[in-house]
Amino acid sequence: SERLIQKSEKLAMLGQLAAGIAHEIRNPLTSIKGFINLVQSNNQKKEYFDIIFSELERINVIVGEFLVLAKPSAATFVEQDVKILIKDVVTLINTQSILNNVQIFVEFESDLPMVSCEQNQIKQVFLNLLKNSIEAMPKGGIIDVKVRESEDDTISILIIDQGIGIPQERIPTLGEPFYTTKEKGTGLGLMTCYKIIESHNGKLIIQSKVNVGTTIEIILPATTQSLLKMEVSHT
Ligand code: ADP
Ligand code: MG
Repeated sequence: SERLIQKSEKLAMLGQLAAGIAHEIRNPLTSIKGFINLVQSNNQKKEYFDIIFSELERINVIVGEFLVLAKPSAATFVEQDVKILIKDVVTLINTQSILNNVQIFVEFESDLPMVSCEQNQIKQVFLNLLKNSIEAMPKGGIIDVKVRESEDDTISILIIDQGIGIPQERIPTLGEPFYTTKEKGTGLGLMTCYKIIESHNGKLIIQSKVNVGTTIEIILPATTQSLLKMEVSHT
């Protein structure tokens, strides 16, 4: 467990690092991109600009994957409807999934309880996980998202893909930063997800079978139930 503590301390430090760099980098990055685009279209030294542009894009992707951790003090937990958060993210990722021949089906149980969370962080988790699922299906396929309430006052969100899968022995090491099997991967997506879910007192469980697919379960504490209990105990 000492190893575990060290690991979570390392992750906390990494979060602070992210806080420092992400905000500082994003704005100038966006403006540089814009200007390079302008110069590029004037056809001067096109190949250099192409390289600069793709390098900038790479930084943009890295920062994007843990951008929400860049707000250390702004983690305000508010009661949210998970349905709405998921719908927002599915809309956001719609273009990418269509381009990759991937269909996303979302299924909600009725009367789901609310979840107390920092909505941007939870959206980042859904976004990172759905991106991974899309990237795991190079020939396209289906992603099923299922949301249900569990008996122990939690909400369970399943993201099920039909992708290339993950070898069993890799699964325990997936929260480590910079582990990636992708040519253009960052290896920061899952680490960010673990960190966010941990800070919400939730759990992230990965099950996978090579060449069959991957199922990720996010478990978050529900709030509606405990609020009811509180009201009862006050009277
Ligand atoms: P990245 O996506 O940049 O590689 P992540 O932290 O998001 O970094 O994921 C780390 C690695 O975990 C990926 O490179 C991939 O090997 C594996 N992985 C994550 N999600 C899936 C998935 N749904 N299907 C198959 N492999 C996955
Ligand atoms: Mg990823």
